[in-house]
Amino acid sequence: MDFFHYSKGELYCEGMKASRLAGLFGTPLYVYSLKTFVRHFEVVRKAFGDKPHIICFAVKANPNLAILKTAGLLGGGADVVSGGELRLALRAGIRPEKIVYSGVGKTEEEIEFALNSKILFISAESMPELESIARIAKRLKITAPVSIRVNPDIDPRTHPHIATGLKQTKFGLSETESKKAYEFIHFNKRLNPVGISMHIGSQVGYVEPYVDAARKIINLYKYLKRRKLPLKYIDIGGGWAAYFRPEDDIPEPDDYVSAMSGLFTDIETTIIAEPGRAIIGNAGILLMKVIAIKRNGGKNYCIVDAGMNDFVRPVLYNAKHRVESVRGSSGEKVLYDIVGPLCESGDFLARDVRLPKVRKNDCLALFTAGAYGSSMGSNYNSRMRPMEIAVAGEKVMVIRERDTFRDIIRNQKLRDLTAGIVNSVKKNIGL
Ligand SMILES: *Cc1c(COP(=O)(O)O)cnc(C)c1O
Repeated sequence: MDFFHYSKGELYCEGMKASRLAGLFGTPLYVYSLKTFVRHFEVVRKAFGDKPHIICFAVKANPNLAILKTAGLLGGGADVVSGGELRLALRAGIRPEKIVYSGVGKTEEEIEFALNSKILFISAESMPELESIARIAKRLKITAPVSIRVNPDIDPRTHPHIATGLKQTKFGLSETESKKAYEFIHFNKRLNPVGISMHIGSQVGYVEPYVDAARKIINLYKYLKRRKLPLKYIDIGGGWAAYFRPEDDIPEPDDYVSAMSGLFTDIETTIIAEPGRAIIGNAGILLMKVIAIKRNGGKNYCIVDAGMNDFVRPVLYNAKHRVESVRGSSGEKVLYDIVGPLCESGDFLARDVRLPKVRKNDCLALFTAGAYGSSMGSNYNSRMRPMEIAVAGEKVMVIRERDTFRDIIRNQKLRDLTAGIVNSVKKNIGL
């Protein structure tokens, strides 16, 4: 459930009318319901009951500092996949001993930064990476806490771009390779094997793939314990699904956890979960304004002021997000494709949406926009990235300003390129 609702034909985010927010702050506008985020976080926590656990929020789902700070204030940690994300998590006040770091291509600088920051552990994804970690730890005269990301070769039954637990992907090490990796760690005094990790994919709408994968890594965990490795953490990754429509039949956090919990009962370990979208997905919407309506090839196009640079999931994953008018759904319905202003045919937000007849300047809301929305945003077509606000009851906080032209040109340099250089290039190619 979430705290967006219609009352008397008006969409509300908690105590605030969506149309009023759009009027006050302009569009496109990301609106987050803090109550929804906090609720989802607490639901995940409750799912674990007394079992020791750390909820490491997946920063890449939504790296806004205010969102991360909220996760930290709720006692959460962070799952980071780059040095930039690690810096953001630390800046937001998340404690390093609750941060885990995964990713197939960590640079030496990123590894050094993570070790110096004293994070909980690095999830290593290859032998060369383990060797780098050991070498860097030796240079820093420390012991590096590591985990191996095991690729359990499980089909998570999701979009291929976000399936990560199959052996034909770049992620993790196979079970056989993992055993070798742990042996390497065991005999290297610069490496401390504290955990075992998995992350099978995203928007995984079934519990069975988790159970199958967890069974595999728990068997491996037990095998390693018998060989006296001091593992303390089992990291079950993230990927729990967010719903796209209230009636979607997807598991609740409790379902994922209880399906796996039977496997954890007889082992003393702290479970780490890395949910992203399940917590923040439904806590955000994207408000957008209608620029024009046009008919082409027998279709009604509703052109809005948000595009694929603001929200790329529909074209990238074929994600089908709910779009509604902020003035409700009464009146005769017309079929629209909701498209952005960018010069790409992939620039659509939703196709074949039934809405009450839409007019210029109407405001629409795209739901389940809290995860992988703003975080995947870009300035493509030199568009300003949207403002983001967080609502708590009737309190509204701006948590990211809208881009200005200055932001677009901030890192660009013109000074060195003179007319003389262009002329000499021309001469050089004989034109
Ligand atoms: C992306 C990712 C997550 C979070 O995925 P969600 O689908 O947002 O829950 C967790 N762990 C790792 C290692 C990831 O790469």
